[in-house]
Amino acid sequence: MPLELHEKNGVAYLTSPLLGAVPGIEHAFSTRKGGISPAPHDTLNLGFYSQDWNDNVTANWDRFLAAAGCQWHGVWYQNQCHGVTVREAPEVSGYAVLGEGDALWTREAGVGLAIVTADCVPVLVAAADGRAVAAAHAGWRGMAAGVVEATLADLARGSGAGAGELVVAAGPHIQPCCFEVKDDVAEPFGERFGQDVVRREGGRTTVALGDALRKLLERAGVPSRSIEISSECTACNPQLYFSYRRDNGRERGRLASVIGRAASGEGRNGR
Ligand SMILES: [Zn+2]
Repeated sequence: MPLELHEKNGVAYLTSPLLGAVPGIEHAFSTRKGGISPAPHDTLNLGFYSQDWNDNVTANWDRFLAAAGCQWHGVWYQNQCHGVTVREAPEVSGYAVLGEGDALWTREAGVGLAIVTADCVPVLVAAADGRAVAAAHAGWRGMAAGVVEATLADLARGSGAGAGELVVAAGPHIQPCCFEVKDDVAEPFGERFGQDVVRREGGRTTVALGDALRKLLERAGVPSRSIEISSECTACNPQLYFSYRRDNGRERGRLASVIGRAASGEGRNGR
């Protein structure tokens, strides 16, 4: 099932029908459309660590969450570093940074978790009964290092939600059409996820991050029917997405993917 594109108050965002069916969960994947930032962050830049004005980024966040109907007390983001550190997210108000790391999980209601990307794979996770959520930043480096498995392990330890009862959706990211790599990426990736995630054609080597993600999730025990991975390419679609690769590493905006238990869910599930 593909992700669905919506537009509200000029803000375009995507949702996963699978995650949408989990009770008491709010989530969304942003696009670049509907914000106030000028070029090169035009317009819905959600990266607090870009060279954009913080006031613009905050206003963009407010617009994005309002359009997507996410009504949390606050949102945690991290100083992402392509590693495997997973943190449990406590209560929050406003937009707040939870140290260095590349994944978050929580059982708290009203707490939004954010992953910020511009080509890497944003992975959103929910227990099928809605009692806990997680989010991970999975580029090729983090995925090869095991950030997704680390996230599922911490979520299971902290909430009791095992892989077999999870729903997982991954947002727009760079696809094989644009993700040409050298052997330093292709070799470790092929070894870890199987040679079919590496394609060598006409002198080009590309890697399918989405296929690798699906494989590792299935290996971990997540049912295939509970996995939804976007086939949208951030690099191919400048109208909708920011892309590190397309912009050749130059300063640009960032996309965000968010998930959390609804604030109205407070008091349920034994809290
Ligand atoms: Zn592409």
